[in-house]
Amino acid sequence: MWDAHCHRLCSRLSVMTLTRASRFPNFRHEADLLAAVAIPGRECGSCTLCCKLFAVPAIDKPAGQWCQHCTPGKGCNIYRDRPGVCQAWNCGWRIWRWLGEEWYPLRSKIVINPNVSSDPDQSAIDVHVDPAYRDQWRKPEYLSQLRLLARRGLEGELKFRVIINIDGLRKWIVLPNKEVEFNRFQKVAKAAEHQATCWLC
Ligand code: SF4
Ligand code: SF4
Repeated sequence: MWDAHCHRLCSRLSVMTLTRASRFPNFRHEADLLAAVAIPGRECGSCTLCCKLFAVPAIDKPAGQWCQHCTPGKGCNIYRDRPGVCQAWNCGWRIWRWLGEEWYPLRSKIVINPNVSSDPDQSAIDVHVDPAYRDQWRKPEYLSQLRLLARRGLEGELKFRVIINIDGLRKWIVLPNKEVEFNRFQKVAKAAEHQATCWLC
């Protein structure tokens, strides 16, 4: 009796998970990808991860190290005078509602840099992973969504690549069925070429 109940429950949960996954990414219009404004209610809270992962040349801040003006977990100590790039930028989780709560950077250890544009050569969703949790993106809950996103980037009207980036040194291009590593000395065009031709093999 208990086994049968568990089996039914598990089946229902699997169907719910599959349904949710098959709907991802469930943005209504491709133009939603070009949004840049933070959604009300999607506050940074105690997340400060972008202040670690990204370079800010205006204040000589290198990528992958905490900004000298950041108190991790609290925020920016020069908030009113922070560089323009810090003022203008929002991570993907803040602007794209279709990214679920599991993508909150404090939880995921992943910051999405939304670089989708109408120029297919430049258009990308850059997935920056905290080097302290470098395999985080490979967890099924993230990788399954990244592969679906990669498919959408190939097949949708608005083209984009999905790129994993760790410290700017290790990079992978995500395809619907696999990930291909390339390094910063290889031209992205090569990886894009691969993307366009080999993902069905
Ligand atoms: S990574 Fe996103 S949620 Fe975290 S502090 Fe930066 S903008 Fe806010
Ligand atoms: S200046 Fe402030 S907002 Fe910009 S990276 Fe440093 S701590 Fe973050």
